[in-house]
Amino acid sequence: MKKIMLGKTGLEVSELCFGALPMGPLQKKLSVEDGAAVIARALQGGVNFIDTAQLYQTYEPIKRALEQTAARPVIASKSTASTYEDMRRAVDEAREAMGLAVVDIFHLHAARADETVFEQRRGAWECLRDCKAEGLIRAVGVSTHSVPVVKKAAAMEDVDVVFPIINMKGTGILQGTLAEMEPAIHACQEQGKGVYLMKVLGGGCLVEDYHQAVSYARRVARGRAPLAMGMVSQDEVDYNLAYFQAEEPEKVSLPPLQVERKWFQVVEVLCQQCGTCVDFCPNGAISRENADQTPVINHDLCLRCGYCVGECPQFAIRMV
Ligand code: SF4
Ligand code: SF4
Repeated sequence: MKKIMLGKTGLEVSELCFGALPMGPLQKKLSVEDGAAVIARALQGGVNFIDTAQLYQTYEPIKRALEQTAARPVIASKSTASTYEDMRRAVDEAREAMGLAVVDIFHLHAARADETVFEQRRGAWECLRDCKAEGLIRAVGVSTHSVPVVKKAAAMEDVDVVFPIINMKGTGILQGTLAEMEPAIHACQEQGKGVYLMKVLGGGCLVEDYHQAVSYARRVARGRAPLAMGMVSQDEVDYNLAYFQAEEPEKVSLPPLQVERKWFQVVEVLCQQCGTCVDFCPNGAISRENADQTPVINHDLCLRCGYCVGECPQFAIRMV
């Protein structure tokens, strides 16, 4: 599989990055064993890059897969922490839970934040830079859905890696358009930032247009940005490996792939109308327009990220 140097980090990664969100408790809820088996298959097939997060709760299957394969892929994690202390705990948790002395990349997990994020969460950002100076992290960055944040990251000396959302429909892009996100990403590349791309299949909405969606993302990537793809089964791993290993992917016959639709719904009898999910949704997909204030998910806006699932104190949001 094609390898890509991530900016000036010195980290060389596979073009296909294993996205570890969908296998975890926010979405598919694979057991640790099953999750580890899916990751291991990807590692054995040539993937050497995994993207996870404190929020995703997938450190354990990653650790298990590393033990099973003796592989040492490049691992990126992230945290929504705002303070110095909370970010330090997040970094320590990642290192301990995955059995790593050093986490390769650690981001401010900042899906819906605007360009003030580096000031608003100054403590967390300082902590990441200190952890890098201490040798606990190799590179620091930001994961974001926001055009102004990508533009700002391009201009910041201390940002090593940027993980922006992009897909051919522009689904999930905040504070700007698809036409504005593309040059913002290219500005990051021109400034020597490592860039890899999230939600190139729109959180699953574009899976039926897989070739078109991946081709679009590759054009934006210009051969210099891996694509993070969530995978929850060995069939999905095999499909992605066949595609990414092919010289001319449009001509290869790909293994069969069962496309599973995923939807998120509020279970009304469990909901306590607290509104937490409304504030937390990174794409404004949840509103409370009903008389009883029970939230409703707009499926046209929903990115299928599952972040609301983990935030609901009543466990009232389910993937169906
Ligand atoms: S409603 Fe919002 S937080 Fe929940 S899965 Fe959809 S986009 Fe993600
Ligand atoms: S976070 Fe859960 S309990 Fe609160 S409004 Fe949303 S669905 Fe209801």
